[in-house]
Amino acid sequence: MRNTRCNICGSDRYERRKIEYLYSHKGEYLLVPDTPVEVCVNCGVVYYDAAILKEIERRFFAILQNAEKPDRYIQVPQKSLA
Ligand SMILES: [Zn+2]
Repeated sequence: MRNTRCNICGSDRYERRKIEYLYSHKGEYLLVPDTPVEVCVNCGVVYYDAAILKEIERRFFAILQNAEKPDRYIQVPQKSLA
């Protein structure tokens, strides 16, 4: 994905990982398991592939407009600190 140095710390050591990415837009969410990212081994900053973010966004709006169906729905608890 990348072949340059980390913007934050300048390290050139990256590790590929898969994370759970939570896309949010105006109070609507799409959780994307196994999103491939690159993580700087030195400072831990996470780099997302622009094409993948674009695809996530496309799917988010497709699901929002009922053009595509999500794999499943999950319930998320909310609890205020106040
Ligand atoms: Zn770094």
